[in-house]
Amino acid sequence: MDELPDNICEECKEEDESVRSNLITTGFKLCDSCKLSKTIFPV
Ligand SMILES: [Zn+2]
Repeated sequence: MDELPDNICEECKEEDESVRSNLITTGFKLCDSCKLSKTIFPV
């Protein structure tokens, strides 16, 4: 099982510095754009 680095978005697999801070603040490994779409369209 591959372990993704903390700064890789689980949604789009893009590397972004915002992923790490979003993981801490929201609990999701998402970049800012994916976090935005999750916020607008919650699962
Ligand atoms: Zn993303």
